[in-house]
Amino acid sequence: MANSVFQVPYPRNEAILTYAPGSLEKDQVLAAYAKMYGETIDVPMRIGNQDVKTGNTEIMCPPHDHKHELGTYHVAAKSNVKEAIDASLKAKKAWSQMAWESRASIFLKAAELIAGPFRSIINAATMLAQSKNIHQAEIDAACEYIDFLKFNAAFMQEIYANQPKNEKGVWNRLSYRPLEGFVYAVSPFNFTAIAGNLCASVAMMGNTVVWKPSDHQVFSANILMQVFREAGLPDGVINMVFGDPEMITNTVLESPDFAGIHYTGSTEVFRNIWRKIGTNIECYRSYPRIVGETGGKDFIIAHPSSNPKEVATGIIRGAFEFQGQKCSAASRVYLPKTKAYEIIEFIKKDLKSIKVGSPENFDNFINAVIHKKAFDRLVNAIEEVKKNKDVEIIAGGNYDDTKGYFIEPTVLVTKDPQYITMKKELFGPLVTIYIYPDIEWSKTLKLVDQTSEYALTGAVYSQNRYALEEALNELENSAGNFYINDKPTGAVVGQQPFGGARGSGTNDKAGSAANLMRWVSPRLIKETFVPANDYRYPFLE
Ligand code: NAD
Repeated sequence: MANSVFQVPYPRNEAILTYAPGSLEKDQVLAAYAKMYGETIDVPMRIGNQDVKTGNTEIMCPPHDHKHELGTYHVAAKSNVKEAIDASLKAKKAWSQMAWESRASIFLKAAELIAGPFRSIINAATMLAQSKNIHQAEIDAACEYIDFLKFNAAFMQEIYANQPKNEKGVWNRLSYRPLEGFVYAVSPFNFTAIAGNLCASVAMMGNTVVWKPSDHQVFSANILMQVFREAGLPDGVINMVFGDPEMITNTVLESPDFAGIHYTGSTEVFRNIWRKIGTNIECYRSYPRIVGETGGKDFIIAHPSSNPKEVATGIIRGAFEFQGQKCSAASRVYLPKTKAYEIIEFIKKDLKSIKVGSPENFDNFINAVIHKKAFDRLVNAIEEVKKNKDVEIIAGGNYDDTKGYFIEPTVLVTKDPQYITMKKELFGPLVTIYIYPDIEWSKTLKLVDQTSEYALTGAVYSQNRYALEEALNELENSAGNFYINDKPTGAVVGQQPFGGARGSGTNDKAGSAANLMRWVSPRLIKETFVPANDYRYPFLE
């Protein structure tokens, strides 16, 4: 054991590469993309020290080219899930007793592997698996994930350094134990960084994990597992299983050693999981930690004092980047009557220049939505709009799934602020605008607050400081991440800790020490140097 108080390297946000024409990074990522596209792979689960192939497989296809097979992955039987739980429990003692700086070192190495030799590979995998253009892949799979790993190591040190005060003759120490048992990580399709962070943040704090990625992210999850292994993560610390989410979850939740869940995904699934944990509560050794970041119905509201071009740009980027499949994507917009026409004209003009297609072609700003179910959900919403006289499609509204699941960026204007697309998370490139009379600014703030069950992100555009103050107060509980004169997406680790309340989650702020605190159970150690040797206090004399 080293006799030293170590200092984690000071974390800085990873610089975003440009992928401009002629750049080395562009050549490298396109070469990696072509190689992966041209081969077919067979992805095993990873349980303990085994690559597990059950023979029961599913096919992986790029959403923008759904007839092309990238390969297969093996899905778990109940017995495999039990093996993953056993493997995580077996690995727990050695892992939790490893010096914290050694654990940090493994994940810092993983960050450098992604920043260097794995950068083009993880970006290409994310482009193929989740249909992200290169910029979206770079800010997610490379930069955000590198940031999560580096900042979390620093947050871990910050947490461990936080110690109680001492009075004379006593030394009080806090030891930040990992949770007793194992943790279950369940990740969504939309961010490679979130998938990697849900399992790695928990493991960094000394826990072992059963990780179930989304069926629609297995291709890039497989690269994350390769990175963990190359970084030196011991077997059994993160066990990766694929397959029927309900069966896997039920099996995990039956275990008395289930210590917590780190979940990101839709609200309804999270509520069901919470219900099941409640039903099983007597069977657990400890009260499980429940951390869930879930859906959103994120807003932009513009004040009459706002700058129309800035608002239009916020809407285009906030609503349509990654096909609107960000939990933070703007999907309901409130424009003042006097500025609405100008803002809408800017939006229409921008949309005319936006191309939809494969991420391999760098001209395309918009790519495919993730799967057929998502495509059908969005097509249904668009077709419903066409039948409703209270809503009008002012841009987009076309779709085509011949080759990939492509939906044109679509803008609706509604006369009914309670119309379904103002309330329900649709998770696609579809944004609805409601135009309010300028004098109803205050009333409209109330409307923004009360329209949806979610409270994830929101943005207000205004040049009037009193209006901003009013919005800050009136919308205090409407968004966990609140943006002033900026789009509501694109939170950066270490700068904008991310999460929302109400129907949007437990708001444990991914990318902050607050999140890591959920994965420890502090033990207080009080040591008295000269113990008392007479029970009588002076007042008894
Ligand atoms: P999803 O709910 O379909 O899936 C999320 C995860 O839950 C996947 O691993 C899936 O396999 C699993 N799952 C599905 N059904 C399950 C069941 N019955 N029991 C247990 N697990 C089950 O979500 P998605 O389509 O992958 O991701 C999109 C959703 O995630 C959106 O609602 C979005 O807002 C949300 N999201 C939220 C955040 C955030 O930080 N708040 C970030 C990203 C995504």
